[in-house]
Amino acid sequence: MELMQALRRLAQVDDEWDVKARRFQQVRERLSSDTTLQEMRAEQKAREEQLSALRSKQRDLELELEGLQEHSRQVEASLYDGSVLAPRELENLRRDSESLKRRIGQLEDQILDLMATVEELTVVVEQGAKELATFEKQWEQETASAREEYLALRARLEELKAERDQIRASLPRRELALYQELRRSKGGRPLAPMAEGVCQICHVAVPARKAAIAGGGSETVATCEGCGRILYQA
Ligand SMILES: [Zn+2]
Repeated sequence: MELMQALRRLAQVDDEWDVKARRFQQVRERLSSDTTLQEMRAEQKAREEQLSALRSKQRDLELELEGLQEHSRQVEASLYDGSVLAPRELENLRRDSESLKRRIGQLEDQILDLMATVEELTVVVEQGAKELATFEKQWEQETASAREEYLALRARLEELKAERDQIRASLPRRELALYQELRRSKGGRPLAPMAEGVCQICHVAVPARKAAIAGGGSETVATCEGCGRILYQA
């Protein structure tokens, strides 16, 4: 390949490499990290555990209520079935009965509150499970397409590397070093197109001797007097 053609092709290869290597890095990170998914799963698990704890508390209170109601029925029976006659004992039973009824009333209120909370949380948990399932499905699809993209990028980067190595090996050392230096110092744009004797990047006129070299077919390259880039005929 002629020197100027080789440099222009090298610049194209390097540009494509930069874009695809960056994207490759992003895709690789996406494939190696599932933080969002883990967070969503942990949140849903926490909600489910909270609901389960509330339900178990509700069961405990219901059992306690049953026990108190049974006890209250027994006290009521003793009060009115004539089996207890001593006034002090009857007074004690009445006091027991009243305190049991108070406690039963409190428990019933507590259970009602708890039932409402359990009902609300059940809706939240069901909603969360649906959202998680949708997210997991979407995640799997994205992962599959990211894996595909990863493989395609890797293959293309290998091709680009092979081509770049080949072009570099074919270039004279001095011109290659100049190209590399300009690529570093000129924001990744080591070459400048020249049209009608003017550099199209910095708009400085190119002397005829340099313009002839920039036209191609030469053993060496010409750099712009303004921006210092390697000139080629646009
Ligand atoms: Zn220039």
